[in-house]
Amino acid sequence: MTQIKTPLDVYKLLPKSNCKQCSLPSCLAFSAAVLSGERQLADCPHIAGSIVDEPKKIDIHKSTLQKREEAADQLRSQIPSIDLLASAQKLGAKIIGGKLAIKCLGKDFFIDSMGNITSECHTHAWITLLLLDHIISSKGDNPSGQWIPFRELKKGAERNPLFEQLCEKPLKEMADTHTDLFEDLIYLFSGDRSTNMFSSDISLILYPLPKVPILICYWKEEGEMEASLHIFFDSTVENHLNLQAIFDLGVGLAMMFEKVVLKHKRK
Ligand code: SF4
Repeated sequence: MTQIKTPLDVYKLLPKSNCKQCSLPSCLAFSAAVLSGERQLADCPHIAGSIVDEPKKIDIHKSTLQKREEAADQLRSQIPSIDLLASAQKLGAKIIGGKLAIKCLGKDFFIDSMGNITSECHTHAWITLLLLDHIISSKGDNPSGQWIPFRELKKGAERNPLFEQLCEKPLKEMADTHTDLFEDLIYLFSGDRSTNMFSSDISLILYPLPKVPILICYWKEEGEMEASLHIFFDSTVENHLNLQAIFDLGVGLAMMFEKVVLKHKRK
């Protein structure tokens, strides 16, 4: 039986054509989505039928999903002992109807005193983990205004190649082709246009969480220099989220932007 434990295990099963028919920017993005439970292998129309039709041949990410659910249950069990009002002040969130209301990636999520999360949109397992961990572990630091790349986070260097593939590369490709829409991210994520950060042509500061800003810098193609895009986190980010959650936040941002681009194409 083929064991699926990482996005690369899924990637090996794919044609690697990046054709986007699964409505994701690349086969690698699809691989991450399969592992997080947002997509099924069968959502790729090009995957060999024999793999999809014979589930016994392949142990698809069940253990990973189960682990995420178990981790969420464990975190949820700590919420009843937390003062949600104090958390709201610490995280830059609000209390609405007795629940902690926190904006994450432009959507409102409501967390009750038992740790149950509701939202107008589907709450993916990774968002549940991210929010619960943020509520429990965040030290509530205000942003320092100092920016660091993902690879400079603790153990970030190890995961940086995958972060580049799943977050920075798809964002760069969308910025290349939809530069105007790219700036719409400011409105989606309550951001600001920053001036010329790191000598970039476009720099946006977005707030995927109220106290967790992300800086996106895009350099347009110039002469023989190819366009490039890099993401920076505030130096306090690790006082708000663990590395997995920071990674998921970046990938989630790229996926949300992809949805904006697809919606625009359909119009
Ligand atoms: S449809 Fe399949 S081959 Fe095409 S990008 Fe998605 S995963 Fe890759």
